[in-house]
Amino acid sequence: MSIGTRPGAEAAALAGPAVSAQTPRLFRVADRVQESPDTWTLRLVPGDGGVPVVAAPGQFTMLYAFGVGEVPLSVSSLPSEVPPLLHTVRAVGAVTEAICATRPGGMLGVRGPFGRGWPLDEIVGRDVLLVAGGLGLAPLRPVVQWILRRRDEVGRVALLVGSRTPADVLYHADLAELAARPDVQVLLTVDAADPGWKGRVGVVTALLPQARFDPARTVALTCGPEIMMRLTAQALVDAGIPAHRVHLSMERNMHCGVGHCGRCQLGPLLLCLDGPVCDYGRLGPLLLVREL
Ligand SMILES: Cc1cc2nc3c(=O)[nH]c(=O)nc-3n(C[C@H](O)[C@H](O)[C@H](O)COP(=O)(O)OP(=O)(O)OC[C@H]3O[C@@H](n4cnc5c(N)ncnc54)[C@H](O)[C@@H]3O)c2cc1C
Repeated sequence: MSIGTRPGAEAAALAGPAVSAQTPRLFRVADRVQESPDTWTLRLVPGDGGVPVVAAPGQFTMLYAFGVGEVPLSVSSLPSEVPPLLHTVRAVGAVTEAICATRPGGMLGVRGPFGRGWPLDEIVGRDVLLVAGGLGLAPLRPVVQWILRRRDEVGRVALLVGSRTPADVLYHADLAELAARPDVQVLLTVDAADPGWKGRVGVVTALLPQARFDPARTVALTCGPEIMMRLTAQALVDAGIPAHRVHLSMERNMHCGVGHCGRCQLGPLLLCLDGPVCDYGRLGPLLLVREL
């Protein structure tokens, strides 16, 4: 997916939103690309001609399909991309189906951005290990773009991607471009192959022994199904990465996005405010509590 640049926009994102994050705004679908049988990437531009949403990597918005409802969705672009708001959405229910069905020219409502994103300041000067399960690649995409723009400030970079089937692999063009680079290790696996698949088969955690990183100087970022993140995080801690340097994006159900409704509470954490990105040092004990 080719991208343009808006100088200074990342700094603006880190400084915070230009308008209140609770104010719903109209956005127009500028472009819609089918990634897989049930997943689309939408590029959104402000329908009111106003300022764009500037989200730091790992933050999310609340996207509203009129007359249907509102759901949390990770921002999959850097603020410096043009247009700067990209969402990759899997149609799993009423709202996500309505969002995915919105054609170019159609309007959606956007609130946000919300939440704490990936700890980019920790990445500088360290090895980075990114582990994505399925749609978990969506919130990791802007981190990859961020790293590529500062490649000489980061040590080794490994991206491990697990997908249900070859047809479900997201961002084909981006992954192919990345895999061709000598300074980024890309490992891809699928749970179930089809007859044309020549790559690896198995769960994403099985790729960890092949990943090139030094545990003593690595920051790990992971997103995917909760069980996959828990197993990945534990394996990385067992491999010697300190738990506070293993970060998970917790995509629990959220409703208000601003800490009022309590829907996303996990023990003492409100994941819409304290997350969605949290470190395994904090999350590990909570994830072991049944039904929390
Ligand atoms: C911070 C955050 C970021 C997210 N980012 C993305 C994203 O980038 N792309 C994307 O496609 N989805 C993302 N999700 C999940 C998305 O919000 C849900 O798929 C959506 O809320 C489902 O709503 P629905 O009305 O379409 O389906 P519903 O009818 O509400 O649900 C359909 C099915 O999806 C399950 N489901 C609902 N919410 C979630 C959830 N949060 N996680 C896992 N399963 C869920 C339900 O249990 C049900 O089985 C994110 C969720 C959070 C909390």
